Amino acid sequence: MNIDRKAQWAVRQSALPMIVRPCPDCPGIRHRPSGRFRVNANGKLLDVWLLLHCAGCGRTSKVPVHERAHVSSLEPARLVAYEANDPATVRELAMSASLAAKRVYRLDWTGAWELRRDTPRPALDDPRPLTVRVRFELPAPVRVERLLMAGFGLSRNGIRRLVADARIQLPLPPRARTHRDFELTLTGAVPPNPLPLRRPRVVIVAATRVSSPTR
Ligand SMILES: [Zn+2]
Repeated sequence: MNIDRKAQWAVRQSALPMIVRPCPDCPGIRHRPSGRFRVNANGKLLDVWLLLHCAGCGRTSKVPVHERAHVSSLEPARLVAYEANDPATVRELAMSASLAAKRVYRLDWTGAWELRRDTPRPALDDPRPLTVRVRFELPAPVRVERLLMAGFGLSRNGIRRLVADARIQLPLPPRARTHRDFELTLTGAVPPNPLPLRRPRVVIVAATRVSSPTR
């Protein structure tokens, strides 16, 4: 009769990450792809840039994708994709960790993922243990406690308390970042003491100083 509960959570991409690098025109550092490439041909040599917009001031900037590349070194379909501003190719490069590393900028995935649960939000007061399998469909690591906040609908402190009380058991620390699948266990709550049907009346009597009896 004591059936363990099981759930599946999937971490999915919901948007493109922000491209983080300084803007020359404003104090902003966050950029979005404009959805376009710029292709420049010089004889048989090609330059291809991914165009970005600053989220602060809208300034357009360029990320080199190919520099002085010989036209024969590119797949013809790839070149067509650049020339047609193919949305899938924009997405691929806008979230490419290798392009980010090569061109020295950071990708910020905050707000670019969502958690999908196959069951309603777990009840924390259910005494049966719950095993949750967390599956990643996101190419970027996410901080474990942010997943747990989304999954259980609790604040950071609420999650930390459950982990400190060993009610949530994890294979990695809550502050770790991961994009590998893992399993966590929520152990059942200790049932609270049953409340009496009628609360006893509490009478507060003014405290008076009782002097020791004199003889
Ligand atoms: Zn700017």
